[in-house]
Amino acid sequence: MQFLIGLGMAVAVGAFYYYVLYSPAQQNDWDKLPTLPEYLAKHPECKTSDDENAKCYSCESDKVVFQPLTDHADPRYKHICLSCSKILFKSKSII
Ligand SMILES: [Zn+2]
Repeated sequence: MQFLIGLGMAVAVGAFYYYVLYSPAQQNDWDKLPTLPEYLAKHPECKTSDDENAKCYSCESDKVVFQPLTDHADPRYKHICLSCSKILFKSKSII
């Protein structure tokens, strides 16, 4: 019985770290986003003079902001259109 309780605790702690800290759902969403070159290959009209940014393919706004996927220490960024809130592409900060 002791063993089962210990095992249950280990699984609970493992699940906590897996779902809360690693957050596979967010990682999955992020994996599905195109990178900037992929995005521009798909939407060549969105290219701007800025090599690190692009326009929104949906509303053509150039107000695209980026934010970290989870918190400020997260090197994974998603780039979002300020006008229509679409998530356009992803990037990774180099640390
Ligand atoms: Zn837009």
